[in-house]
Amino acid sequence: MPSYTCPLCGNAIQEEFRTLHEDAEQWLINRIKRQHPEWVSADGACSPCIEAYKAKREARDSS
Ligand SMILES: [Zn+2]
Repeated sequence: MPSYTCPLCGNAIQEEFRTLHEDAEQWLINRIKRQHPEWVSADGACSPCIEAYKAKREARDSS
């Protein structure tokens, strides 16, 4: 049974698939907060969201 709802995409997933936690990389946290200002890292996120944000870094970060 899904026990956790990803705050970024709204998908209900099993708690064990929750990926992000408080010691996540800071650049990744900042990037997510750019689009989800009220999100905090303790809320976590599902794997597809994390992978998507990591991929965006490859494509968009030039600084
Ligand atoms: Zn998600």
